[in-house]
Parts: sequence; C-alpha cells; structure tokens
Amino acid sequence: MTVMNIVTVPDTILTKKTETISNIDDRIRKLAANMADTMYKAPGIGLAANQVGELISLIVLDVKYAYAEGKDKRKIPMYLINPKITLSEGMVVKEEGCLSVPDFGIDVNRFERIRVTGIDLDGNPLTLEADGLFARALQHEMDHLNGKTILDHASVLKRNLYIRRVKKRIRRDG
Ligand code: ZN
Repeated sequence: MTVMNIVTVPDTILTKKTETISNIDDRIRKLAANMADTMYKAPGIGLAANQVGELISLIVLDVKYAYAEGKDKRKIPMYLINPKITLSEGMVVKEEGCLSVPDFGIDVNRFERIRVTGIDLDGNPLTLEADGLFARALQHEMDHLNGKTILDHASVLKRNLYIRRVKKRIRRDG
C-alpha cells in the first residue's frame, strides 16, 4: 500500500489541464493503485491524477465505501481514463468539499444525470450512466482534469479570501 501526498491549493498543478493517456502501461496501473490507496486513506470518494502531482487524465472513484457499514464495506475502486461527458440532463446544487482545498465548502451547480465515456485500466472502452453522488463526484474529478477546483465555482471574493488564508498559514507554519 502506497499513500501519496495530496497536492493542495495554491499549487499550480491543480490549475493545469491534464494530458490524454494514449498508452496504459505498468506505470499507469501502479499509479492508479496508489491513487486508490491515497483516496481511501484520506478519506475521500474520488481523486484525480493531478491531485497527486501527475498531469494525466486518470481518475479513481468509490462513492460507496465511505458511507457503507458491515459486510457492505468493501473497497471497489473504479478507474477511469480520459473521461468525457457525452450527455447531460438537469441541474442540481449541493455543497462540495475537496481534498486539495482543505477546510472549504461551497455550493456547486452540477448536472443531475450524465453519460460519461472513457477507458478502463485494461484499455477497454467504458460508458457510464450516473446520477446522484456518483454523477457529482465524476463531474468534480473531471473538473480537476481540466485544471479546475471547487474554488473556480466560488465568487472572486470568497476565492481570494481563502487563498489569502492559506498563504498566511504557509508563512506561519513555514
Ligand atoms: Zn477535488
């Protein structure tokens, strides 16, 4: 098990668009497994590769594990490479947080239902129909791949206040 360091704001890798993956090799598969370990340890329900310092279009998700109990509590990470929204329906607002934006919550408007295409870790094409928390988490992680965080959904004022607070903490803690 390898838990990686999660990059936080204002690291500029979070504002960069990730690259399409054209070749799934052992390095990618190992990174994916490490990202899952990192997500479960955090704990979180999703993680994008640039959140661990890799500028490639890979996400891992498990929206069930964190809320499951007893025998239902099984880790079933889902990996998605080069995801794209091909269909969307409805809008819904809900508060979100992010492992890369600690101590911050914001209402984010997301599609209610989406269809996403991508490829899995074996290189097979994948089509997902998602709603609820799954749809929200997918859109959140795809935002990361496009160099966006929940801060981009905040007002300029709220965003600047947060960044100022973080920079002050970095200065203080060294
Ligand atoms: Zn996030």
